[in-house]
Amino acid sequence: VATVVSGAELARQIHKEVQSDIAKLVAEGNRRPHLSVILVGDDHASHTYVRNKTRTASLLGMSSSTIFRPSSVSQEEMLELIDKFNRDRNISGLLVQLPLPEKDVDGFHIVNIGKLCLDQRCMIPATAAAVWEIIRRTGLETVGKNVLVVGRSKNVGMPIAMLLHSDRKHERSGGDATVIMAHRCTPLPRLKELARLADIVIAAAGVPHLITADMVKEGAAVIDVGINRMQDPVTGKSRLVGDVDFEAVKEKAGFITPVPGGVGPMTIAMLQANTLVTEEKKIVEWAETRLCLLLASGSGS
Ligand code: NAD
Repeated sequence: VATVVSGAELARQIHKEVQSDIAKLVAEGNRRPHLSVILVGDDHASHTYVRNKTRTASLLGMSSSTIFRPSSVSQEEMLELIDKFNRDRNISGLLVQLPLPEKDVDGFHIVNIGKLCLDQRCMIPATAAAVWEIIRRTGLETVGKNVLVVGRSKNVGMPIAMLLHSDRKHERSGGDATVIMAHRCTPLPRLKELARLADIVIAAAGVPHLITADMVKEGAAVIDVGINRMQDPVTGKSRLVGDVDFEAVKEKAGFITPVPGGVGPMTIAMLQANTLVTEEKKIVEWAETRLCLLLASGSGS
């Protein structure tokens, strides 16, 4: 039976580290890191995400502010706002939350993604950073291992694959794994074959129960990024499930992350860690192009 890797527990560790780093920073006479959020539209889940992020920020000793805009906001106004925030030296981190919560793409500036792809030091997009930290803090070996990433989106699947396949000796250290990416055109029988070869399966497709026990190698690590809202057929209540058939896969895998309580809380923790990094290293240069990309990326991947 797999060890259930608690993202919530790992997130608490990171929170403690960030909190103590902030306390040190402020004690040394530096200003307090500040996270600004532009929240677009009235999507309930987006509002919840933003509330969780800003609440966590304040618990860790960061200040934060949220600016609300209707979903009818023009691209021009958004770009102006972002530009203004980028120039504001009192703001360490900026997060744009659009109506679709899954399009949350912290660290998604074209220059930043370019650096990520060239193994240069950069801001790691929060969800990819969450997966990376889960692997590191669980002590999973990646060098020379087979990794299957299911999903190739530019904000989740791609950066995860980028981190794991690249060279650990480069400026931005990678996992040195043999990485295979699957996507919506990968036939299910092929996906099964590939999954069975994998030492680590990372599921980021947004398809409930895509990864079943017959696809998982005995003892493999299974990291479930998916967040899917499903109606319980008996109670009629809606609940969150991942992309992995958790109960069955747990019996076969060596390590597994649950949904909720796995990658989700780690993503929020890594966002806070990213905000601190920008404050310390002054890498506030994203946002503008990333918004253009976002607005242009309505199509599927
Ligand atoms: P997306 O819709 O942009 O991308 C989904 C990817 O999965 C695409 O590349 C697509 O080709 C692939 N795919 C779809 N069906 C497939 C199939 N049957 N077999 C193999 N590949 C398939 O979504 P995204 O933004 O990458 O997010 C993926 C999932 O992760 C979603 O469920 C989202 O809610 C979740 N998510 C979670 C967090 C978190 O913090 N835990 C953060 C971001 C996204």
